[in-house]
Parts: sequence; structure tokens; C-alpha cells
Amino acid sequence: MTASALHAIKARFKSVTTMNDKPQSEMQAQLQAQFKAALQRELSQSTQAPSRETLMRAAASACRELLSQRWAATQAADAQRGEQAPVRRVHYLSMEFLMGRALGNAIAALGLDETLREAFAAQGQALPDVLEREHDAALGNGGLGRLAACFLDSFAELGLPSFGYGLRYEYGMFAQAIQDGRQVEAPDDWLALGNAWEVPRPELRYPVGFGGRVVAEADGSRHWQPAEQLLAQAVDFIVPAHHSERVSTLRQWQASAAKPIDFNAFCRGDYAAAAQHRVAAQAINWVLYPDDSTDAGRELRLKQEALLVSASLQDLIARHLREFGTLHNLGKRNAIHLNDTHPALAPAELMRLLLDQHGLQWDEAWAITRDAVSYTNHTLMPEALEKWPLQMIEALLPRHLEIIFEINQRFMDELRQRFPGDEALMSRVSLIEEDGGYGSGGERRVRMAHLAIVASHRVNGVAALHSELMVQTIFADYARIWPERFHNVTNGVTPRRWLQQCNPQLAAVLDRHIGQGWRQDLSELAKLKGLAKDAAVVQQFLGVKRANKERLAALIRRELGVAVNPDSLFDVQIKRIHEYKRQLLNILHVIARYQAIVANPQANWTPRTVVIAGKAASAYFMAKLIIQLAHDVGRVVNSDPRVGDKLKLVFLPNYGVSLAETIIPAADLSEQISTAGTEASGTGNMKFAMNGALTIGTWDGANIEMAEAMGVENMFVFGLRTDAVARIKALGYDPRLHVEENKQLQAVIDAIATGQFSAGDTARYRPLVDKLLGSDPYMLMADFADYVATQARVDALYQDQAAWGERAVLNVAGMGWFSADRTIAEYVERVWSVKSLG
Ligand SMILES: *Cc1c(COP(=O)(O)O)cnc(C)c1O
Repeated sequence: MTASALHAIKARFKSVTTMNDKPQSEMQAQLQAQFKAALQRELSQSTQAPSRETLMRAAASACRELLSQRWAATQAADAQRGEQAPVRRVHYLSMEFLMGRALGNAIAALGLDETLREAFAAQGQALPDVLEREHDAALGNGGLGRLAACFLDSFAELGLPSFGYGLRYEYGMFAQAIQDGRQVEAPDDWLALGNAWEVPRPELRYPVGFGGRVVAEADGSRHWQPAEQLLAQAVDFIVPAHHSERVSTLRQWQASAAKPIDFNAFCRGDYAAAAQHRVAAQAINWVLYPDDSTDAGRELRLKQEALLVSASLQDLIARHLREFGTLHNLGKRNAIHLNDTHPALAPAELMRLLLDQHGLQWDEAWAITRDAVSYTNHTLMPEALEKWPLQMIEALLPRHLEIIFEINQRFMDELRQRFPGDEALMSRVSLIEEDGGYGSGGERRVRMAHLAIVASHRVNGVAALHSELMVQTIFADYARIWPERFHNVTNGVTPRRWLQQCNPQLAAVLDRHIGQGWRQDLSELAKLKGLAKDAAVVQQFLGVKRANKERLAALIRRELGVAVNPDSLFDVQIKRIHEYKRQLLNILHVIARYQAIVANPQANWTPRTVVIAGKAASAYFMAKLIIQLAHDVGRVVNSDPRVGDKLKLVFLPNYGVSLAETIIPAADLSEQISTAGTEASGTGNMKFAMNGALTIGTWDGANIEMAEAMGVENMFVFGLRTDAVARIKALGYDPRLHVEENKQLQAVIDAIATGQFSAGDTARYRPLVDKLLGSDPYMLMADFADYVATQARVDALYQDQAAWGERAVLNVAGMGWFSADRTIAEYVERVWSVKSLG
């Protein structure tokens, strides 16, 4: 995919979705009027000066009004795109959309920053302070959810007819607080003060059933009679384009009980019983990822997935019938994309709707389904591949289970013809796990990834290495059966949020030297390459970095009371806390450095501030222990007078999009240190490099493509590669050998084990130490020495600021490929265009 191909795709969408752009002066006048009206509504009779919250809400409400007009125009344009449109309308189904704040993005998209800056100034407030009052929409967990949010931005920017579909979580991802160095979770009440961006759509409601039984009719057709009926109502979130008047939609579903209260129970005075259905329905929208260590939690999660899928598909079908009056072309006109397997019930639900509600025959319904559905895999870890107990699906979704059985039956028949006698293959690829694999407790389960592959015309991984490993390992059988089905589409991030908005000073430097075009076509960053040796440009890069570091230093002081030196090297690892991401390896390096400094305080140390942030899943014991260790080590290191500025370790709580937007522009060094073969792509890595941080990373995920794009000499690459990881594991990996031959590593492990960071408590970190010396599945011990040696190379380069700055420029220059616009253009070409149906 080249830049010109990207332009061609944009031009193609434009030709079917042209809208008349309003002059900017008219927009400004409209915004000012709307803002004034909204402010009056907010203030009502009060004569007090408006608070920042009030200004934020009034501005959001004014922007929403302007964008709603654009939304209506976008929908009208898309509805008229007709039979000949080259691209299908895309329906992106995801259980997570990690949107972050919306106001800053909206005013940037509308080009009204200055108008609002003045309006706020008239009320005595600064723009950034007002923007900060908005609560993050944290309706996601990590990279997968943030990817979905970046995609919505690119859908709008490219003019792709589309809908994002998700759930409206009342409490999203939990809020993380730290008490005594330990993570504690609290509900994130992000809607407490209302949400100006939501547009409730009470007219868009669909019934969703659970439980009950399947009835056979006299004519042989089958019908589901659910025991429980819910309603799913749409709530729209609008996502503006930055360089056109297009607006894309995130449609989120809110469940309610079909029968809100039990009136008989109410009359008896039994209010709890009267409200039971109402509460049970609302519980579906409470939180993202209810703890799945209990059966009740797992059942709730399955209900969430089923509700998302059913409501979205009913909405799609209703729209399609409005536009075309027939279902026969549904698969040719609509793409249904599964962001991981969480929405993988979609093919079963689509089949049910087509067969049972619209009377289609199996073969036609299946052809439509296969044309429409495509699936992105996000992980190779077998334990992360979703499987649902057959019994649970049978109890909640009996008709879906029948359909899954029939899909499987027909698939097995096809295999019997193509691979006669290969029973082992059949049992490996079956949608049903008979014998009970990892963690099944012996029960039969439905393999959701298999359902997604069998029902899709395209399956993709999210970076070159990941897509390669996907067809070599977990999906090798499927790649043999349907080689043409598997593709790679490397992830990207939106340069609007992750460069223009989060780093306005760097954006201004770029504008000055290469023009403003990079916002729309990130490949223009390559123009910087020729400027990397220009001392003035390098100085400007370093100056911007220094200013962003001061801002972060102020935040660290405010949040944690720790003073860090903005001239030290800011070494940053922010992402979900997970063993495969190896925050622990980072901490081991901090300990090694601490011990070396104490042993030799006079040496020429490059001062470092190590910043870690991230949430651990609430039931993930090891990840929580790693958070605690980070705090224990930080406390000891930060208060040791022998160390001073030479080393600090801080953990910033409650990682999310807004925190990332402050931290990333301030990073000198980006830690991307997963065990090779475990990080599917990463997108944090891209955001850092785009903002001029250098990467220390393993040969994993998108790090590889980044290194190739910027020149591998501009990245600090270390550690075992995937082939070596596999070879060593096959031979029998013994982490103790690495410890025995490395005195430094021994001292680090000893310090943890003997309670040096836990006030003598030797039990606290025993599980961590035992795991490192026992199986060490993520091979920290094997990679430690090379990691520490590579960190020494980092130190050396940092001492030469001019050389460091030149590399920073080259990192930014190499990131043009990693825009979500390019990613979406590739999805259009390979996955969602009518052409891809073959
Ligand atoms: C980009 C991003 C992620 C993904 O980070 P990785 O380092 O790729 O795991 C997770 N959370 C937030 C808030 C992000 O912005």
C-alpha cells in the first residue's frame, strides 16, 4: 500500500459521499451562538462565574450540535451510495472502545480551537484546564480497545461508510488506586456528571432473548422461544473527521428489561422481587470484563457478547432492508468485522435471523454470512483464546447452539471429502472441543476462534510476525484448508490524537519544516529524514521534549510527591501489566542499576527516571504482585540519599488514554520488551516513536516493522528472537543456568528474595522468585544480560545529546507507515471491498 493508493481510496469514497463544506466563518459564528446558549442553560439563574466543568459541558454540547448536523448529512450521503458503491458499509463489532476524552478532538476536528480558547478566556479560564475536566471514556482494557477507537477516527477521516458497535458500560474499566503499594479497584463512575457526547436513540430498540427452548414447526422450521426478553436501545457517540465534514458513529447498546417491574410483586410490597428483572437487565451494562473467575461472572460476559451481536445485527438488517428492500445482497453490501473473538457469536446470530426470522434457506444464508463476516485475531496465547462451555450456551442461547452444531456438521462433511480419513485434523479444527483442553475441567466447549474462522472470508493478524506465527502455530490447520483466507494488516494509530493533539509543540515544529500535510497523510513524515543532521531542527526537537518532560515532572510531583529531574533520561513503560509484557524485567534492571550506583556512586552515571503505569486484571495475582514490587523498589531507591537524581522509579496510577497523552510526549526511551512471539503488534510502541522517543525493544510484534522502517540502527534491539525462544524451549529451558553464570542477576534476585525491598518480609515475593527460578515461561532470565548491556548503550548515546536528537528525528521520520489511515486503507483493499469476496 503506497501513499498514492491511500489517496486513491480517499478519492473513491469522496466520489460517493461528497458533502458541501461550510465556510469556517459560518462555523465559528454557529459555535459561538451554540456555546452561549448552552452556557445559559447550564447556568440557569445562577450569577456565579461558570466553573471549568460548566464550561466544558457547554462547549461539548455546542460541538455536539454542530456535529449532529454533520452526522445527519453523513448518514444521508451513505444511504444514497447505491448498488454500485465499491466499498461495503463496514460494521465494526468490538466489546471495547477506549475513546478517552472527546472535546479536544472535536474542537481540533472542527478547527475551532481558537474560537473556544477566546470564549473560555472571556470567562477567565485556560483551554487546557477546561479540557481536563472531561472524564475519560474508558470503555476498554488496552490496545485492542484503543485500536478500535483509532479506527473510528480513520473511518471518519477516510470517509468510509461505517458503524462502530459496542456496549455502553456504565462503569467501563475499573479505576485503579494504590494503597500501601497495592492496586485497589473501584468503579469508574464516568457518567456521574452526564455525558454531553451521547445521543440517545430511543427509536432504535431491539428485542434480545435468553434461555427458553427451541420449538419445531410443522413445516420443519425451528423457532426459539426465549424465557427472558430484554430490550437493547441505541446510544450514539459521534466521531468527527478532521479534514472533511464526515462524522462516524459509535453505536452503543444499553439493555433494559422488556417488562420493567413485576407489578404483582410491587403490590405485595416486595420491591426487591419487583425490580429483579430490571436490575438483572441493567447489570449487563455495568462493567467491562466482569471477573470471569466465577460462573456468574462468565455468564454475564456471555450475555454481554450476545446482546452486542444481536442488537447490532438487527440494526444492520433493518437498515439494509430500508435501503435495498431485499436481503439477497446483504453480504455484498455489508461487512461485519469481528474485533477478536468477543463478538464471534455474530455468524450464529446472523444465521438465526436470516433463517428463522426472514425465512432464507441455509445455503443462501450461509453464503451471505461468509461474504459479510471477517475476523481479526489479537493473540496467539492458547489460554487467551475464548471458549464457552457448551452447557452455558445451551442454557442461554439454545437456538444458537443448534446452528453452531449444524455449521460444524457441514464443515466436517466438507473436510471428510477433502481430507479423507484424517480424523485427527477433524478433531483439531472442530468448533467443538470434545476432550476438554486447557482449563476446561473436562467439559465440552465451543471454540469461538474456530467459529470466527469458519464463518469468515478473511482472517487477519495485526503485525507481520504475528500473522506469520498465526498461520504457523494456532491456525496452521486452517491455513492448510483455506490458505487464501489469511492476511496481515499491521496496526496503526491516529496521528490526530497521538501527535497533533497530544504534542502540539512537536506538531508546530513539524508544520514549520515539512508542512501540515502529515495530519492527513502520515507518510509525509519521511520528509524529515533529510533534516536529521540539521542542528537547528535537532535543537527544536530536544527543546520540545524538554518542555514536555517538565510538564510530566510536575504531574509526578503533584500525584506522588516525588521530585524527578527533567534532565534525566525518561525511561517509560506504560501498558497493561502482564507477565508477557515483562514489566518485571524492567524492574530487575532498575534493581541492578541501583546496586551498581550504590557500589560506585562516583561513576559517570546517566541519570534516569523510570516511569511505569498500567492496570492489572483484578484476578491476576502475579500482575498485582509486580505492581507491588514496583512500589517497594521505588520507595527504597527514591529515598536512598546515595542515589539522588541518578535513579528514580515511579508508578503513576490509573493508566488510561489521557495519562498516556501526557506521558508519551515526555518519554526519551520507550520500553517494548515482551518475550519475542508474545506481543501481537503493540500500538504503544508506535505512539512513542511518533513522538520522538527511542525504543528499547525485542524483535517482536510491530517493533520489527518499525525497526525496518526507521533503520534498525535507530532502535535498541535486544534479546532472543522467536526461533531461539522456540528452540530453547524445545531443548528444555533452565533459567537457573542464567542466574548461576551472572553475578549481577544473582544479586538482584537475592535482594528481592531476602526482603531488601519488603522490610525483611521474605514471603512477599516468593511466588515471583520461585517462578523466575522455576519455569520462567517468559524467559526473563535468558534475556536479562543482553537487556542490561543494551541499557548501557542507551546511557552512552544519551550523553551525546546531539546524536540522541538526530536519532529522535529519524524515529519520527520513519513512522509514516504506522497511521491508522493506512491500516484502514489496507482493510478496505484486502478485507472489506467487494473485490475481496473473489
Ligand atoms: C496505546 C494504548 C494501549 C496499548 O499499549 P501497548 O503498549 O501496545 O500494549 C493501551 N492503553 C492505552 C490507554 C493506550 O493508549
